[in-house]
Amino acid sequence: MEENAPKTCIVCGESKDEGITIVTEFICNSCEATMVQTKVEDEKYPFFVQQMRQLWVKFNA
Ligand SMILES: [Zn+2]
Repeated sequence: MEENAPKTCIVCGESKDEGITIVTEFICNSCEATMVQTKVEDEKYPFFVQQMRQLWVKFNA
């Protein structure tokens, strides 16, 4: 395991050291925190949904 290797966040596209991995995809801490706080009426919500949908597509493939 390369626990300290930077990974590319699927939401912001930046390489980050800390975050969570869901299935095979990485989400950095800041994006995860933002997603948790994002409400349905927020203009960023559709973007997160779209990014997350990529995860579910892969997960269910
Ligand atoms: Zn991110």
